[in-house]
Amino acid sequence: MKTHTQVVIIGGGVVGASVLYHLTKLGWTDVVLLEKHELTSGSTWHAAGGVHTYNSDANVSRLQKYTIDLYHEIERVSGQSCGIHAAGNLVLAANQAVLDNIRMIHSRGQYLGLEMHLISPREARELNPLINDKEFIGALHRKDGGHVDPHGVTQAYAIAARNAGAEIHRFTRVVALEPRPDGGWLVITDKGDITCEHVVNAAGLWAREVGRMAGIELPVLAMEHMYIVTEDIPEVVALGRELLPTTDYSGEIYMRQERSGVLMGTYEQDCRVWSPDATPWDFNMQLLPDDLDRLAKHLEIGFKRFPAIGRAGIKRVVNGPFTFAPDGNPLVGPVRGLRNYWCACGVMAGFAQGGGVGLALSRWMVEGDPGSDIFAMDVARYGAFATPAYTNSKVQENYQRRFRMAYPNEELPAARPLRRTPVYDRLQAAGAVFGANFGLEVALWYAPKGMEPVEIPTYRRSNAFAVVREECHAVRSAVGLMEISGFGKYEIAGPDAALWLNGLLAGRVPRPGRMALAPMLNEQGRIIGDFSLACLARDRFLMIGSGMAEIYHMRWFERHPPPIGTVVRSLAPALTGFAIAGPNSRELLQRLARANVSSDAFKFFDVREMAVGMVPATVIRASYTGDLGYEIWVTPDYQITLYEQLVEAGSDLGLRHFGSRALMSLRLEKGYGAFLREFRPDYTPMETGLARFVSYDKADFIGREAALNDRATRPLKKLVALVVDVNDADAVGYETILKEGKAVGQVTSGGYAHWAQKSIAMGYVRSDLANDGETFVIGLFGDDCPARIHTTPLFDPNGERQRS
Ligand SMILES: Cc1cc2nc3c(=O)[nH]c(=O)nc-3n(C[C@H](O)[C@H](O)[C@H](O)COP(=O)(O)OP(=O)(O)OC[C@H]3O[C@@H](n4cnc5c(N)ncnc54)[C@H](O)[C@@H]3O)c2cc1C
Repeated sequence: MKTHTQVVIIGGGVVGASVLYHLTKLGWTDVVLLEKHELTSGSTWHAAGGVHTYNSDANVSRLQKYTIDLYHEIERVSGQSCGIHAAGNLVLAANQAVLDNIRMIHSRGQYLGLEMHLISPREARELNPLINDKEFIGALHRKDGGHVDPHGVTQAYAIAARNAGAEIHRFTRVVALEPRPDGGWLVITDKGDITCEHVVNAAGLWAREVGRMAGIELPVLAMEHMYIVTEDIPEVVALGRELLPTTDYSGEIYMRQERSGVLMGTYEQDCRVWSPDATPWDFNMQLLPDDLDRLAKHLEIGFKRFPAIGRAGIKRVVNGPFTFAPDGNPLVGPVRGLRNYWCACGVMAGFAQGGGVGLALSRWMVEGDPGSDIFAMDVARYGAFATPAYTNSKVQENYQRRFRMAYPNEELPAARPLRRTPVYDRLQAAGAVFGANFGLEVALWYAPKGMEPVEIPTYRRSNAFAVVREECHAVRSAVGLMEISGFGKYEIAGPDAALWLNGLLAGRVPRPGRMALAPMLNEQGRIIGDFSLACLARDRFLMIGSGMAEIYHMRWFERHPPPIGTVVRSLAPALTGFAIAGPNSRELLQRLARANVSSDAFKFFDVREMAVGMVPATVIRASYTGDLGYEIWVTPDYQITLYEQLVEAGSDLGLRHFGSRALMSLRLEKGYGAFLREFRPDYTPMETGLARFVSYDKADFIGREAALNDRATRPLKKLVALVVDVNDADAVGYETILKEGKAVGQVTSGGYAHWAQKSIAMGYVRSDLANDGETFVIGLFGDDCPARIHTTPLFDPNGERQRS
């Protein structure tokens, strides 16, 4: 083994092998993979090898499609068979909810170029004669996907990487990691030491342990997972072609052909965490004792829905562990606070996702950027809240819900409440129905007296619909009160604060007492932040952005640190706040503030540090509702007092609590985009319309060159707002926008605008079609809904209300 290399990858499962291959493909050939046993000896060797393209995040779907297409390439490059069975697959719907779900997948898949068709149960039965079609009401036939050979795939990556110059050392265990002053790492193994510039944690079942070697606790945990393999089935033998792999969501069953029988697995409700605290180092190429009793209920349903399987004997049961992050998506990317420590772990579907994970991570390492927005699998989507106990609870919930419908309005209960602001109990007493954002309890809407504070999960309009309408109307006609503590908040203080912000952000840095909207770009000129920047003093700024992106943004700030003497820190736990919005909001603030807050004295985008009643606060005149409004920020010790004052002073002004559901409705009718929806690293300022906040004439800022090129080129797509003619369901996101039957765009978010009384979808369409009045069709749960571009906001198009 050499003593120095550019990259050490720890782990020779399918994921580590994919990262190795992709690094060599991008030109980094001085790379070493260390594997403590044989390649594949963790989760990889016993996987069912099933692959499919769909994920609830569009970009993860794209990477899954990339992974599947890649198998032909690595077969060709390596000469090693991947055992590709590209039969496609079937998803069966036994009830209306699943039917809605597969219709949504179908609508989303068109823009992604995923070939799929909605078919009848009878047609499904023709493709898979084991199906009892009387049990189902519909099906989705996906043309891509199938299954591959886990061993063959891993070997193919490894051979191709070795041929390009990479080294693989088997039976070499990494026992410790030490950071070096030059930013690299000393990797200590049981066969000697090796220094490197970068370390990749692709340790699968041991990802936690390899995280701990660097002093971090990654939110990853293994679950036991079982499948059965049957004896030969006459119907399969007689088929003369391969059986189509099939998933039955409501039965929570997947199946595919295995020789002349069938492999059938389930995500059982009576699930088991494996090795909750630490993974034994000597667990190599091993299975776990099976426990068919745990599967009995699911197998019974399976035998009813696929009767031929019930008639066959069980030849073998496989029970193996594999890892999950709390939301089931991988943990990929550089870890905040560590230099050159990269993650490629928590990959629950290594054969569907491993290629995409390898591609994204390698690009990130070699080119400085993953190539597209992969926030859905970025390790930075978790913060300190993702403790081992949180992870344990969430991973079990995720496992149990693996084949359950994920409703857009659903908030999952495990590990909650976790983060709470002081006012939580008061809001609960006011009827708040909470959701969790970055571990923090956030009020979604407020159930009026007499109504149970529970929202029923659905793809259609929920029981909260009428209440949210009332909340929106209260904001537009009187005054609404909303807790906004969940936003990301950062303090930048020091003599060079303005200088640093000027280079970090694409927008203008405001003068003292003013706020500005400030997009942040990466070197490729794509949107990685969308901040409100308030200048409290020449050397002190408050920056507000997405709460979910706190670690993501802090990691970026650390990569581009301010000069010594200037400090940036997250105020996540240190600042709480309320928004008041609506025509009576000024009167409400004036009742509590000694300072003059009249329209002349306190203008739109003004910022003041002032007393609000008895409470010292920072007040910003701005509102994401698009209405007259203010944000009032205080330290947590004052939050309850501020709340009580606002509620009391607003009681005769028509004050009503509103939650984030109403906020989404209000911002949609105003045409405001949201970070990680409309504004994300997939898009540029010209595409998003954020170009008007970019100061192209500034001497320098990150992404300037790319932004200038972007401005000089006609954008391929543009963000638009569409009014959609719907029945009882609004757009959710990622639906395909069709023009004359062709996919010309994609929805980014949607919902009902209660004040404007219109269903709205925001999304990107081909720029030649981004014209006022242009018409399209959006498929919503089986309905082809006409949609029309509205280039002026439906609410307050001239901004008179917010500036009043
Ligand atoms: C029963 C079952 C069925 C499955 N079916 C499917 C399926 O149909 N489709 C699908 O996509 N996925 C499936 N999976 C999941 C799939 O197996 C995993 O997603 C995948 O194997 C994860 O690969 P990995 O490389 O991340 O981890 P692993 O395979 O666990 O690899 C990690 C490697 O790192 C090595 N290592 C760890 N620590 C060190 C160290 N300190 N030094 C050196 N080496 C180290 C280990 O020895 C191991 O070889 C299934 C899993 C199970 C259990």
